[in-house]
Amino acid sequence: MARYTDASCKLCRREKEKLFLKGARCYTDKCALVRRASAPGQHGKKGGKMSEYGVQLREKQKAKRIYGVLEKQFRSYFDKAERKSGVTGENLIELLECRLDNIVYRMGFANSRKEARQLVLHNHFTVDDKKVNIPSFQVKQGQIIKVKSKSRKSPKFTQIVETNSGKVIPAFLSVDFEKMSATLLNKPTKADMEIPIEDRLIVEFYSK
Ligand code: SF4
Repeated sequence: MARYTDASCKLCRREKEKLFLKGARCYTDKCALVRRASAPGQHGKKGGKMSEYGVQLREKQKAKRIYGVLEKQFRSYFDKAERKSGVTGENLIELLECRLDNIVYRMGFANSRKEARQLVLHNHFTVDDKKVNIPSFQVKQGQIIKVKSKSRKSPKFTQIVETNSGKVIPAFLSVDFEKMSATLLNKPTKADMEIPIEDRLIVEFYSK
């Protein structure tokens, strides 16, 4: 399974925006973007007006990077979103937000999507009481995501619950921190996104 393995902070620098890819560190002065906003080197501060294509490309890259999805898989999400009835951009957001690794992060059981992906791969979660270790698994409305009973006592989850029990949970989820479980109440929408994405630009990018 291919994945991005280079430094996460480089991605924020490239998008000139905090994408919150590293959990707690992103909220401190240690954040690379706080310490130095532009990329190192003489070309790092290059600016200038971007073309329409450039703006669309950057929005697509930003979305990919936030959700930790590579090009091939992102394109296949777009194709799926296009085939589904309804608005393509809204369908795309729903598909990305309903990934199991994203749900684990949004329910507060991981400090970043990257960590959520690791925890899912290491078999710490169930969906409707069935073991699921596929980060891209699509969670459906009404399904219940739980930390596996064996994993609940691990210091990792005790610490995560302590840190995140005050976290703002999106309206599409209902979370029970005591039981270490969450239910997907509704389909996620654009309003539920943590970092806003202009889906229209992504649709325009792929429609050329
Ligand atoms: Fe981005 Fe977080 Fe690195 Fe800051 S610390 S640049 S928000 S990944």
